[in-house]
Amino acid sequence: MTKNEISAIYDPDFETLLNQWGLLAKLQQGGLKCSICKTILTQETISAIYSDSGSIKFVCDEPDCIKAFLAKKEAKYRV
Ligand SMILES: [Zn+2]
Repeated sequence: MTKNEISAIYDPDFETLLNQWGLLAKLQQGGLKCSICKTILTQETISAIYSDSGSIKFVCDEPDCIKAFLAKKEAKYRV
């Protein structure tokens, strides 16, 4: 994943990816927040993941947040 690449995943690969990045435990512990509305994410509510200025950010499944995420850049999003 390059610095400015945006990707969004919402399928079983998602957990694998989070696990690879060492973030799955953090998610399960309530340590990840939606970058838009700051809600604490769970495995049920996380819907997108992207890289912004070198840091990894997350988006919840609220339509407004997904919309804001998609408006950010040329986001790739699939469900
Ligand atoms: Zn949100």
